[in-house]
Amino acid sequence: MFILVTNDDGIQAPGLLALTEQLSRVGRVVVAAPDRERSATSHSLTLHSPLRAEEVQEQWFAIDGTPTDCVNLGIHGLFRERPALVVSGINRGANMGDDITYSGTVAAAMEATLMGVPAFAVSLAVSSGHKQDYLPAARFAARLAKTILDRGLPADTFINVNVPAIEENMIRGTQLTRQGKRIYGDLVIENTDPRGRKYYWIGAGELDFKDLDGTDFHAVHRRFISLT
Ligand code: MN
Repeated sequence: MFILVTNDDGIQAPGLLALTEQLSRVGRVVVAAPDRERSATSHSLTLHSPLRAEEVQEQWFAIDGTPTDCVNLGIHGLFRERPALVVSGINRGANMGDDITYSGTVAAAMEATLMGVPAFAVSLAVSSGHKQDYLPAARFAARLAKTILDRGLPADTFINVNVPAIEENMIRGTQLTRQGKRIYGDLVIENTDPRGRKYYWIGAGELDFKDLDGTDFHAVHRRFISLT
């Protein structure tokens, strides 16, 4: 029995390290993760070029592909057996509401579910630039992993977990939620590069969300761990 861990922030991300440390208390952990940051690659597969998997430490594979590639390879090719569980994360930043459609973290869990392996994604709701303590989210992930290994998940179901980025004793509990609604800004940054050519930067604007009862945003904003 083993747990396959992946992410979209890359194999060197601190969230992945914290997650593997805590999951090791629950079962044997192997890693198949992108060799670099692959956030916002959604559920994309690499179909038109080969993939390389470098074993950077025992049973840890850095792959030059997307999170979905990693899960696909991790379930079908890299290891002798199929994993009992796939856990994706811990992502640096929340994955809630419409953002889920862009998320490589969430897509990795979805890929596992499509392959018939129970899975969940876990994200820490930090805003960039803030100090990040992944331990509370990692501890919760280990508890959830144990529950799923003991009791299973319904078919075609995976869980998207978002943990508020606050001290563990400030977290009020867990809530089962539905996917919320993001309000996207329309900011595109336009600038000129050193060679005089125009460039654009998307996704840099301030984001808002609809504070709807029962949603992931609503729960995390009120210091609950959200399970969608
Ligand atoms: Mn990410």
